[in-house]
Amino acid sequence: MLHKKTFLFAGLSAALWGMAILPAQAAVVASIKPLGFIASAIADGVTPTEVLLPDGASEHDYSLRPSDVKRLQGADLVVWVGPEMEAFMQKSVGQLPAQKQLTLAMLDGVKPLLMKGSDEDDHDHGGHDASEQKRDDDHHHGEYNMHIWLSPEIARLSAVAIHDKLVELIPAKKAQLDANLQHFESALSRTDKQVGTVLAPLKGKGYFVFHDAYGYFEKHYGLTPSGHFTVNPEIQPGAQRLHEIRTQLVEHKAVCVFAEPQFRPAVIHAVARGTSVRSGTLDPLGIEVAPGKDSYMQFLTGLANQYASCLKGD
Ligand SMILES: [Zn+2]
Repeated sequence: MLHKKTFLFAGLSAALWGMAILPAQAAVVASIKPLGFIASAIADGVTPTEVLLPDGASEHDYSLRPSDVKRLQGADLVVWVGPEMEAFMQKSVGQLPAQKQLTLAMLDGVKPLLMKGSDEDDHDHGGHDASEQKRDDDHHHGEYNMHIWLSPEIARLSAVAIHDKLVELIPAKKAQLDANLQHFESALSRTDKQVGTVLAPLKGKGYFVFHDAYGYFEKHYGLTPSGHFTVNPEIQPGAQRLHEIRTQLVEHKAVCVFAEPQFRPAVIHAVARGTSVRSGTLDPLGIEVAPGKDSYMQFLTGLANQYASCLKGD
C-alpha cells in the first residue's frame, strides 16, 4: 500500500511538473477540426495550430473546459465560424482584441455565399421525443446554414483571410505565408476537380442524412439529397418515428441513408431495416483525418468517397 502511494505521488508530481514546462499557448486556435485543417495549411512552418473541439464532441453543444478558456486567452489568433455555430465560444472570443479573432461567417466575401438553413422541411417535425426536439432546436437557432467549412469556395476565402491575419501578426514570415497560401489554393483547385469527377455520376440519386450540415458541399457538387431526419445518435427511435422515417425513405426512392461516426450502429440498422436502402457514414468534422498541410484536401476527398461508396452501384 505504502509503495503504491509513493508511486502515485511521484506520478502526480511528474504530471504537475510536466504541465508547468509545456508551452502554455498555441499561436492559432481553430474552433473545429476542418478549420484547423485550413489554418494549419496556411500556418505550416510558421506557427503551430491547435483545434479546440475534441474528436467526438458536437459543434452545436460543446461546453468549454477551463483549459479551453485558457487556450483561447493565450492564442495569437482564434479562428471560428461565428456565434451562430460555436455559441459556446462567444463569451471567450468576445473578450479577445479584434486583431486576435477571425469570424469566418462575417467576412465580406463569405456573407453573400451563406445559404439559408433548411427549416422549411415538414418531414422532420413529427414524433420527436424531448431529446430529439432539443437537438433540433440546437440546430436551427440561426437563419443560415453555418456549416460553411463544407464549401470549397468558402474554405478558399477562409484561407486567404487566415493568411492576411497572420501576415499582420507575423510580417517577418510573409514569404512563407504567401507560399503556403499559393500551395493551398492550387491543391484545393486540383482536389475540387477530382471530387467533382467522383461525384458527377451520383447526381439524381436520392438519399437522406441525419444532420442538416451538408448543404454547401451538396450544392457545390450537384448532389441531390431528399432531406434530413433529426435523430438522437445514441437512442433507437420509437416505433412510430421509425415508421415515419422508413415511409419517407421508400416514398423518395432513397438509395442511401447516411449516419455519422457518433451514431450507434443499432440506431442506423433500425432505420434501414425492412427497406432496400443502404446505409453509409459521413464524417463532416474530419475525425478520421490527421491535421497537416494537405489535410483539408484529404477531408474533401474522404467525404466524396463516403458519398460515392454508398450511392454508386445499384
Ligand atoms: Zn452541425
